[in-house]
Amino acid sequence: MKTWTISELIKKTGDYLHKKGIRTSRIDSELLLAHCLNKDRIDLYMEFESPVTPEELSVYRDAVMRRAEREPVAYILGFKEFWSTRIIVTKGVLIPRPETELLIEEAIRIIRSEWSDDEQLSILEIGTGSGAIPIAMAKEIDNAVIFSVDKSPDALKVARLNINSDDFFSRIKLVCGDSLCAFKYQARFDIILSNPPYIRSDEIDGLEPEVKTFEPREALDGGRDGLDFYRKWIPEIAAFLKKNGWLILEIGDSQAKAVTKILISSACYNKINVVKDYSKQDRIIVAQRK
Ligand code: SAM
Ligand code: GLN
Repeated sequence: MKTWTISELIKKTGDYLHKKGIRTSRIDSELLLAHCLNKDRIDLYMEFESPVTPEELSVYRDAVMRRAEREPVAYILGFKEFWSTRIIVTKGVLIPRPETELLIEEAIRIIRSEWSDDEQLSILEIGTGSGAIPIAMAKEIDNAVIFSVDKSPDALKVARLNINSDDFFSRIKLVCGDSLCAFKYQARFDIILSNPPYIRSDEIDGLEPEVKTFEPREALDGGRDGLDFYRKWIPEIAAFLKKNGWLILEIGDSQAKAVTKILISSACYNKINVVKDYSKQDRIIVAQRK
């Protein structure tokens, strides 16, 4: 039987995945091989001509077959980097997106400009998924307790794994429930943030197979015009925000105007501001509770 070297395998797999319509074929073949060999991707280049054992080859072949079926690399590896943290992901949770790091950046910017380090903050995140957002927030903001709610028990299982494997679990409280239902009206937060589902229902079937076939629909589907969650949550959230507290939301790139309108018509917020992501798309909207 032929003995394959690392470089031969990367080339052959890259070509194969490319033929399957995968645009990131080369990098995917490297990431999967590094994972199967228990190495960092950079190490592959140092050991380019090293042989791969039949056992390693068999594990790699399974991973490549899954990728050829368009399963996202993050689900095959079992994790995704977010805010320099390795976040465990399984099919029950959305894979955290790089653009969501901007939600964290905005939250940190607002907290550092409005509160001092010795003030205790109470933060609520709605729709925690993998737990990526509360973990990033807990890493950056020492003086905060963070409540994170999701209605999906599968997502919460993964979030719990991530939070338990982290140093911050005592400051993150996971709650299973539908948006704010689990909270009593006396609960008041300084910051409420969310990356809600915001894709239009009729758009989902046109998305890449990686997203539409593998990621949970309830994490993506924002209803007929993608705005269901903003319409429902923005007025509800007002009752849970302290005076001068901040609401920080991720939005789809064509939704800034509509979400601004919802915020204005609730009559509860001012200082509404839209922040663009690194691709110059509207991505985050912030507003202060009156
Ligand atoms: N926060 C994660 C992130 O940014 O990677 C996941 C965000 S995902 C776009 C939206 C999340 O909201 C999903 O985990 C979904 O289960 C949750 N969700 C949807 N409807 C909800 C509801 N009514 N109440 C609580 N969570 C909900
Ligand atoms: N940004 C995600 C995507 O394009 C959608 C996340 C969401 O609905 N909040 O797949």
